[in-house]
Amino acid sequence: MKLLISFFIVAFAFNQVLATEINQEFTYPGGIYVEEISSDQFQNGFYYFDMKVPTVKKNNSYYLLFGIPRDIDPNTKQIILKNGNDDYIITLILKKKYFGKQYINISKIFTEPDDAVIERIVKEKNILNSARSKWISNDIDTNFIFPVIGRISGVFGTNRFYNNKRGNYHNGVDFAAKTGTNIIAPSSGIVLLTGDFFYNGKFVYMDHGMNLKSIFIHMDSIKVNIGDYVNKGDIIGHVGNTGKSTGSHLHWSVTLNSVYVDPMIFINNTIIH
Ligand SMILES: [Zn+2]
Repeated sequence: MKLLISFFIVAFAFNQVLATEINQEFTYPGGIYVEEISSDQFQNGFYYFDMKVPTVKKNNSYYLLFGIPRDIDPNTKQIILKNGNDDYIITLILKKKYFGKQYINISKIFTEPDDAVIERIVKEKNILNSARSKWISNDIDTNFIFPVIGRISGVFGTNRFYNNKRGNYHNGVDFAAKTGTNIIAPSSGIVLLTGDFFYNGKFVYMDHGMNLKSIFIHMDSIKVNIGDYVNKGDIIGHVGNTGKSTGSHLHWSVTLNSVYVDPMIFINNTIIH
């Protein structure tokens, strides 16, 4: 009997360890770093420059989730955050990440816009930037589902060349799918912004809580309005080929502490066990 009891204690303790185990699988450029924090630190909140860093509570433990910039110096060993008035240093052991190349031919309208279009682009960029750092809610669900059924035609982080000229890196994931295919919310949240912009085409910008955000672009139609609360799995619109796009597909980007990270990390994730 004694043996049986101690077996149960060991088994229980083992489960507890598993419950709070932290997955460092995603500690790489464009990934996320997870660290356990105290409840006091949780209450004080964390900042990376002027951006608030997400924290989550799970099984009576608290965790910091830090989005690692894709263009971080790969030799970076430490990141200094602010916790209340104190410096909070996180030690990173960054995994190496290889980002491939992709060559795309596209209309010169997008690579050499005229002055009127540049004015439009700047205006739209400012609107998006002002929404990017908005802190909407403390409820966060980091366990995502796929926003669309389609073939992955572009991965996160690729170095992109438009008409053989280097452009920005690819900051999301592309899913090739027919125009009209349903796009669903990968996680619940609030619709921050919708619109029809020069580069994005028709888009939906969502906040999933704690400044974890998704943007869905090149859509054919939008089925939600600014301010709507959307449940995971709800239809938000349909796949299209609007804006800077060379075929019918969904482009999906995710930001954490206003940093682009690989959206695939959040699909059926094991960030915190
Ligand atoms: Zn894309």
